[in-house]
Amino acid sequence: MTTHCPYCALNCGLRLTVANDRITERVRWKQAPLTGGALCSKGTTAHLQVHHPDRLTTPLIRRNGGLTEVGWDEALDVAASGFLRIRAESGADANAVLSGGSLTNEKVYLIGKLARLAFGTRNVDYNGRFCMTSAGAANRLAFGADRMMTPLAELDNAEVVVVVGANLSAAFPVAIPKLLAGVRRRGGRVIVIDPRSSRFVNDNDLHLALRPGTDADLFNGLLREVIDQGLVNRGFVDDRTAGFAEVAAAVERFTPARVAAVCDVPEDVVREAARLIGGTERCIYLHGRGPEQQVGGVANVLAITNLGLACGHVGGPGRGVNMLTGQRNGQGGREWGQRCDQLPAGRRIDDPDHRQVVAERWGVDPDRLPDVGKTYVEILQAAGRGPGGIRGLLSICTNMSVSAPDLDAVNRQMAALDHVVMIDPFPSVSTDHADVILPGTTFAEEEGTITTIEGRVVRCDQAVTPGSAGVSDIDLIRGLAERLGVGEHFLFHRGREVFEEMRRVSAGGPVDYHGMTWERLRDEGGLCWPCPDVDHPGTPQLYVDRFAHADGRARFIPVEPTPPPDAVSDKRPYVLTTGRVLAQFLSGNQTMRIPEQDRLAPGPILEVHPETAAGCGLDPDRPARITSALTTAEVAWVANPDLRPDTVFLPYHWPVCNRLVAAHLDPISRIPGFKYTPVALAPAPVTAAPTAEGHAPALRKKADVRS
Ligand code: SF4
Repeated sequence: MTTHCPYCALNCGLRLTVANDRITERVRWKQAPLTGGALCSKGTTAHLQVHHPDRLTTPLIRRNGGLTEVGWDEALDVAASGFLRIRAESGADANAVLSGGSLTNEKVYLIGKLARLAFGTRNVDYNGRFCMTSAGAANRLAFGADRMMTPLAELDNAEVVVVVGANLSAAFPVAIPKLLAGVRRRGGRVIVIDPRSSRFVNDNDLHLALRPGTDADLFNGLLREVIDQGLVNRGFVDDRTAGFAEVAAAVERFTPARVAAVCDVPEDVVREAARLIGGTERCIYLHGRGPEQQVGGVANVLAITNLGLACGHVGGPGRGVNMLTGQRNGQGGREWGQRCDQLPAGRRIDDPDHRQVVAERWGVDPDRLPDVGKTYVEILQAAGRGPGGIRGLLSICTNMSVSAPDLDAVNRQMAALDHVVMIDPFPSVSTDHADVILPGTTFAEEEGTITTIEGRVVRCDQAVTPGSAGVSDIDLIRGLAERLGVGEHFLFHRGREVFEEMRRVSAGGPVDYHGMTWERLRDEGGLCWPCPDVDHPGTPQLYVDRFAHADGRARFIPVEPTPPPDAVSDKRPYVLTTGRVLAQFLSGNQTMRIPEQDRLAPGPILEVHPETAAGCGLDPDRPARITSALTTAEVAWVANPDLRPDTVFLPYHWPVCNRLVAAHLDPISRIPGFKYTPVALAPAPVTAAPTAEGHAPALRKKADVRS
């Protein structure tokens, strides 16, 4: 049985052997697209979650403060009646739906449809709001669509690769580092733009260790320098774009001297980077969460796209301004309508034509579709308030009590809700807030499709019966829909049945899957959208002849750097930046249960530059005390000379991290600014526990840090 790893958006293919409805083995799937069967440690152990003893298998209802096991019908009745009561008392928007970025496309589609038709609420969003929304918004503004434009295999044809704020060794350990090694072997150059170095960075790479929060200043400065050195691709700019003159004027003041002062990148390095980038036709940009998870996240990505457009680095071969989607189905999650501003197939909920098409295909009146609602953090912030507040929440596979910013506030917000229903394969700190817990399925227990980092739709087959007594997530959604009075719109039992409706709904839309059949997805190793008919080969490379805007032209958009709302000061002089370690994934609710992964990264470790550690008097045998504007925590630490001295790093897989991070949001994407939190450092008092939360790992040396 072939499927794909359930963790990151590379979606490495894997093959599972099954006997007596149990997974017995994982074997290499050599024909898997892009990765050819290679896996990182998380992928090799992913199947161990399926039969894990911690699995939730029986529905639970909270009674008299405790959780009681009940039957499926009773649990679904209680879940639905709570939402109906709240809707009758406070209106449809008093119920909200939050979902995760690992769900199959089919479940994403059903969740969005359930929110609009069954709940009738505007307030539905997903945790991709924490991940990809800045890149998605900027790409729609600049190019007219939200997808990686150039397949990763095109790195083989690139002469220069610019990696911006992406720790490839921890976040994308398969395929991409190998492709970069090929670029270096051929004499190409890798330019890394990040306050923190990591294992994939090579001595011969050009590393611009910019001051955190200054990405837009740097890219404006690089564009100014490209213009100054006469390296603009005038033919491309004239034929394929609009707005260059305005952007050229806007970047005029970002001189190398100014960039050096603001970004702390030497003038000659700025000039050299601009010369390398502007001096080749074959350059691929890979941008990750570094520039994106900031209050200026959209502006930062637009500054990158302006540079790529000026140099004509789009449309392949060996050219592309590529976003690196993070979660398993972060791409499909923002195509199929589980966002508050979106309808299926990349359609917009505030576009009358798009509303008309979707309503027709669903067989309902367009007026029945709600308008744009609140985003993830805004839904939580509205919890329990009076008029206009959120009282009921359906959550499916999202762990807000670890992943959202300002966690102490999140836990208060969750506690303020009247009725919380959670679908998840495992208990979590978030399910502690649930009134009803419905056991969910793992990746190997349901068939469906995933859209990979490249926009390639791949098929995941079902290996075993759901551990939740054979009840699948699709069964749960159908059961809720029936009880909420719209069962006729949810007559689905299997992923492929949902996929058939999705194909029909997507026809002619911005994200067109119509030509993809269930069989083609397996026979052809996946297909990239748009794929409008069954003879169409799919579209791995976007924007070869035209962009997705109606006039076919890309847009230059002037960028004014956005200062952080809470900047470093004498009181909090260091910037906390957050991210992943290789062995864990997101809130760790799956990977931390797998001993092989837990041994590699058993707890949070703060990384601090050795000079900073010495200056703050940190003791190697004691935790560090870290203080943000929100709270103070004690955490194990390790010296890392590959960080800027003014920057510290903490992985976000444990709650201690997001207790420190405030809920400041980008004005367009509403992404939280996870990458910039001013903090103070000091040694923990001698009585402090080794860590504030989670496991208490022994302090570890630099060589043990997984990054
Ligand atoms: Fe591949 Fe990502 Fe899974 Fe690792 S976590 S095996 S890189 S899909």
